[in-house]
Amino acid sequence: MSRGKAAKGTAIKKIEMRRCVVCRQVRHKSELLRVVKNSSGEISLDETKKIEGRGAYVCKSPECSAMLLKRRNLDKIFKTKLPNGLYDLIKEKILM
Ligand SMILES: [Zn+2]
Repeated sequence: MSRGKAAKGTAIKKIEMRRCVVCRQVRHKSELLRVVKNSSGEISLDETKKIEGRGAYVCKSPECSAMLLKRRNLDKIFKTKLPNGLYDLIKEKILM
């Protein structure tokens, strides 16, 4: 039996669990903020969670946002230096 590809058009709701890059806890997507690197290498906050590309998730918690600013975990994940402005934006979004 092959389970490689799920049939299209089924009404099965996927449980979207993702891991926070800061605390490594697995949470539901709705509790996480998504940052994405698109095919042209631009990194941005993905508020729609629909942008194609390599995504990274961070908990919407003050602890994780503070730690993220300190450790800059996303630089490693995306293998590039993220602008400070983007980190600030992430923090702002989380604390909102
Ligand atoms: Zn976290």
